[in-house]
Amino acid sequence: MSQKDPAPQTQAPTAGPPVAVTTATRQKGNLYEVTKTQLDKAAKAMSLAPDVYTILSQPKNELIINFPVRMDDGRYLLFKGYRVQHNNILGPYKGGIRYHEDVTLDELKGLAAAMTWKSALHDIPFGGGKGGIKFNPRLHSKGELERITRRYTHALGNNIGPEFDVPAPDVGTNAQTMVWIMDTYMNVVGFNEKNAVRRVVTGKTITSGGSYGRETATGQGLVHCVVQWAEDHKFNLNGSTFTVQGFGNVGAWAAKILAKMGATLVGVGDYKAYLANPEGMNPHKLAEHVAHTGSVEGYKGAHPITRDEFFALECDICIPAALELEIDEKEARALKCKLVVEGANGPTYPAAEAVLAERGIDLLPDILVNSGGVAVSYYEWLQNKRSERWDLEEVEARLQKRMTRTYNMVRDTAEERKVDYRTAAYIIGLERIARAYAERGIFP
Ligand code: NAD
Repeated sequence: MSQKDPAPQTQAPTAGPPVAVTTATRQKGNLYEVTKTQLDKAAKAMSLAPDVYTILSQPKNELIINFPVRMDDGRYLLFKGYRVQHNNILGPYKGGIRYHEDVTLDELKGLAAAMTWKSALHDIPFGGGKGGIKFNPRLHSKGELERITRRYTHALGNNIGPEFDVPAPDVGTNAQTMVWIMDTYMNVVGFNEKNAVRRVVTGKTITSGGSYGRETATGQGLVHCVVQWAEDHKFNLNGSTFTVQGFGNVGAWAAKILAKMGATLVGVGDYKAYLANPEGMNPHKLAEHVAHTGSVEGYKGAHPITRDEFFALECDICIPAALELEIDEKEARALKCKLVVEGANGPTYPAAEAVLAERGIDLLPDILVNSGGVAVSYYEWLQNKRSERWDLEEVEARLQKRMTRTYNMVRDTAEERKVDYRTAAYIIGLERIARAYAERGIFP
């Protein structure tokens, strides 16, 4: 299986200098294979029915589309877009849309599968999907991003839909991207149905049908898990220290909320730079800096360090919240923390997880930790369906209740079955999926 898909033809042969430049990134493993290793471990631990395992080991649908878009200078570039639909036995496919130059089919297959486990873990009536476009959004104007998004949505056609497949934001996309998708989709259905299909995407702006609390949901959900872990371990978050890799939606909100609880951000990193300050950084000021410059680079309240130094920083909690497969054995041996909290999807290699376990460092797994996003996406979808608007307090109270309940279920399952938290989270989700297959049977 190839790790990288061929890059799209992003440049007409006679046109000027290249537009879509790929930034240098570290050579990484295959996320789909990593996700499969995790599935195999859980399937063995729970004796998952072999036919259900066979179905879940591959996505139901893998769609690849190449589509042309006019750039501001009049040239046309060809973009490669994807949508992977992993499983929908429990409800419509659900999962983010990623804009990144390293997007591959196998990455999206891994991420789509993780969405299936995540929804099932929370007993949310959704399945799992993931999509994306292989390009660097930082190199395009707002107008170009809008045209790329609308053309991608049009190319997806009926492969998405409010009761079929419901995208959301992920790396490189945001509420504005979702509103463009919604508006494009609305314009291809009949007049009478326009408002009924608002929920074709979640993570929209409030004005366009988004939910209060969606923007902060993933970071907030992460913190609910950390609070539960701290309670279980009699650990005082007030006065603790933490580091965050990736200061986007998940990382920045997690940092701001943890800081409110008295924890100190001592290290941070993103696609451009890594910084440290043992005295602490102000996450609100750092987020303002990132909003203006696009990166943590150049922030005055800390000094630059290397990536290796970042993973060796003394702290209590390390939060990978950037991309997948960032913590390999080397990073796992370097870490000097008590807890790794997977804000990102799939940030830890299985071999690294074994090193962390051997070193007595706890790990809270992605499908539990970052599931606040899909939980509030579900609330947004429900509000749209019922033409309701829930206030922030209601959304936050529901999220806290759901995250705490699920965290406790994962912890109890881990204790009962003598497995790690990731395997326990998989088992809870897989049991729900397996039950649905057992009741419904496999057609024909
Ligand atoms: P984002 O685009 O808002 O932020 C991504 C961050 O990662 C940025 O700070 C970026 O600079 C950094 N980054 C990118 N490439 C990097 C690299 N090579 N090295 C270090 N840092 C790098 O994305 P996000 O929505 O915050 O998502 C982050 C992670 O969380 C992803 O794994 C995503 O799948 C996962 N996630 C997001 C949500 C959500 O609601 N947004 C929900 C669940 C999971």
